[in-house]
Amino acid sequence: MPYKTMQIKLLNPSKSKKALLEDAIWRYSTAFEILLREIKKFLTDTPPSKTELLKLMDKNFFKCVSNLGVEPFKDALKLDLARLLAVYFSKKSSYPVTRTFDEDIEVLLKSEEKISKLKLNTVFEKYEKKRPLLFCRFDEKRDYSIFKSEKGTYFAKLYLFNRNNAQNSKRYAVFPLHAAEWNKKFLSDMESGICTPKSAELVRKGDDFYLNVRFWYPAPLKQPFSAYIGISRGINSDLCYAISSKNGEIASKGCINISSIYGLNKLHSLSNEIIKLAKENNACIIMENLSTSSDGLKMKGIKLPLSVGDYNKTAFFVSYKAELAGLEVAFVSANSIFYRCTRCGNFKRANRFLKDKFICTMCGHSDNLEEIGSSNLAKTLITYKNNKIPVYYKTEENSIIFRLDILDYEVVCAKSLSAANEFCERLQKHIALNIGNFSKHQQFTAKKLLGENAFSKINFIEIK
Ligand SMILES: [Zn+2]
Repeated sequence: MPYKTMQIKLLNPSKSKKALLEDAIWRYSTAFEILLREIKKFLTDTPPSKTELLKLMDKNFFKCVSNLGVEPFKDALKLDLARLLAVYFSKKSSYPVTRTFDEDIEVLLKSEEKISKLKLNTVFEKYEKKRPLLFCRFDEKRDYSIFKSEKGTYFAKLYLFNRNNAQNSKRYAVFPLHAAEWNKKFLSDMESGICTPKSAELVRKGDDFYLNVRFWYPAPLKQPFSAYIGISRGINSDLCYAISSKNGEIASKGCINISSIYGLNKLHSLSNEIIKLAKENNACIIMENLSTSSDGLKMKGIKLPLSVGDYNKTAFFVSYKAELAGLEVAFVSANSIFYRCTRCGNFKRANRFLKDKFICTMCGHSDNLEEIGSSNLAKTLITYKNNKIPVYYKTEENSIIFRLDILDYEVVCAKSLSAANEFCERLQKHIALNIGNFSKHQQFTAKKLLGENAFSKINFIEIK
């Protein structure tokens, strides 16, 4: 489910309003740490289930923070605690500390035991530290909400007080918001029901206060695609792409280079280019899964522009941006994509004996090495779908023996770059002559090989 977060500034709150916000954040942060220490008493080594955790955080549990007036934040505190504890249990590191108080420093100074530097640092670094104030739901009657006045100004309504500290008998305060153009896009999406506001956090940065609002956007319906775009790493370029029609014809090829930008921004730009190309060509994006397989592109003495880690990060950006854009993405094995011939499917190490050129030892097809990977990726799903017919071949001194098991057909051709073509021609003649004698099962394969593109329907596999 795609979430987007919008940060919006509270428009110049008055001194007294700033004090209210500051006080609310202080009360929330203090209560959070006290409750975090309180719940530790009930925890065992086994992580509690969500139900068990909620049971622990009952009415009595909140008694220890009754003087802080955190009634409006009860649900948020529960949720916030549960999230932090989930992280703690998943990491199994030391128990979290979010904030320290005067008493902690006092205890530390009075202690006669030797204090580790780490402990000392934690206590001082976390001293009076503020936590973002969480509002766990958008609701006009509690937590928080955003509304627009008749004049078009946006306001946030924040429930910050309990009955005792209510302001003018109100448990909430209203703050005008500074809505920049990009904020307005989110807010108008919210008004028209395109997105739904979820939780929000109140934070202080310097002298200003901000509300970080999480919006949920439903994933758009996936558009039916009419092409595939394969994206591989390049040798001279960051990335190479190839676009193939649904029947496997490569319609266009190219490369993507973002050389002027660095770091994560570069990877974002690369992913944006991929999304743009996929949209323009109405294509399903096919990327390599480099976490589990290697593309085998690395060569001695050559530094590739994009590392495996950076390709994987770009792929991650592509996956969520594609979801927002309603595009399909598939991750496939990168195995052999720079060794497999895009014409006949022949896979052999020897196909790549030159630094930047690919020459198929089977059919003689040649191509720029860096373009082979993306072309193979673009065709991967089609190959899976078409289930290519395996033809085994063995190279002798002066000849190549081809064998098609399903049709029980074997033929010897003179060793040359056109041997595979010769095999295809002889195979088609053989099929034409014998079609009536084949079993039903054999006929299915035979008919598949009779058309014009027999070559592309065969997967040539070498046996040694
Ligand atoms: Zn080939």
